[in-house]
Amino acid sequence: MQGSSERAGATLTTHATPILAEADRLMTVCNSCRYCEGLCAVFPAMEMRRSFSDGDLNYLANLCHGCGACYADCQFSPPHEFHVNVPRTMAIARGESYARYAWPRALAGLFERNGLAISLACAAAVTVFVAGFVAWHDPAVLFASHEGPGAFYRLMPHNWMVGIFGAAFLYAVLAMAMGARAFWVDIGRPQAGLREVGQAAHDAARLRYLDGGGVGCMNEDEKPTDSRRVYHHLTFYGFLLCFASTSVATVYHYMMGMEAPYPWYDLPVLLGTAGGLGIVAGPIGLLAAKKRRDPALVDRERLGMDVGFLVMLLLTGLTGLALLVLRATPAMGLLLALHLGVVFALFLTLPHGKFVHGLYRTLALVRYARERRLIAEGKAGET
Ligand code: SF4
Ligand code: SF4
Repeated sequence: MQGSSERAGATLTTHATPILAEADRLMTVCNSCRYCEGLCAVFPAMEMRRSFSDGDLNYLANLCHGCGACYADCQFSPPHEFHVNVPRTMAIARGESYARYAWPRALAGLFERNGLAISLACAAAVTVFVAGFVAWHDPAVLFASHEGPGAFYRLMPHNWMVGIFGAAFLYAVLAMAMGARAFWVDIGRPQAGLREVGQAAHDAARLRYLDGGGVGCMNEDEKPTDSRRVYHHLTFYGFLLCFASTSVATVYHYMMGMEAPYPWYDLPVLLGTAGGLGIVAGPIGLLAAKKRRDPALVDRERLGMDVGFLVMLLLTGLTGLALLVLRATPAMGLLLALHLGVVFALFLTLPHGKFVHGLYRTLALVRYARERRLIAEGKAGET
């Protein structure tokens, strides 16, 4: 992308990085053209501006859902000399923005080496769990059958599980909260109320802007499909159901004195099974959709980050479902160690991988909802 800001129509504005300069150039071209204004939220938000600060461009990059429709529709896309490729430019700018907002700062580089970081963290976590089990007990415990309430805690005490996973979860929440704060400051600390948050949550929950203006996402064969949105829904709602399962199990344990594992018809198992199926089917579908995607749209440098996160979700679902099916057999100990290791690594890497896209995109939608409301009320120019 080096030097691309010197292509036809380039602006002379100074930006922190070459990709932001390129995004500025493209937004200036698009602002003159406006052919794509009905496709998504990015173009209407762009039209509210005449110039673009780094914060504006990071906002627009995170508002983009990467459907590819504006590339397929563009009369200035390569080989035209204007070389307009909004989806890929926004994808790279978006990926770079994740590192920019990262907390702690020392870990910002993980966004560049994410696939490797996830694999190493996962392998280390599984090894520690298995070694911890074996060291804590007679190694035979790991390969024995355990049944009835409290069976899992014969391998690892419940309080240890809560302490270790609670710490990893709190770290993930703190790191993402700090990242969200940095993003909000960068995009100008817009004022936003419950109405904007509600609108953004509604748009994010439906993936309203991942539909390419109504036809679906673009693929290499130029036949748009809605499969990315469907598989993304399966993944996202599967993840939420797994979280709900864990929350209900926590209530069972502390408020009702009922210890896991629970019967198959009980709420934590039903929620966990549905969620597990979602985070198996969704990532498989998204990985397959990646193969069909037009390479011109893809940020190849961060492909490992996307794939790493999807593989971690897939492993979480597979190990969780295997544990459910085989929990009354001697395989339970090893499967529990594997599942806990994968989930622990997933928690630790949440703030340093693809998961953060949902956070920044939702915040960008909050700002967009605010801007739309101000325009509707005739107060454009306020923030
Ligand atoms: S992407 Fe191309 S067609 Fe769409 S607004 Fe920009 S310049 Fe125009
Ligand atoms: S890729 Fe899709 S969401 Fe992104 S700017 Fe283009 S049309 Fe909008």
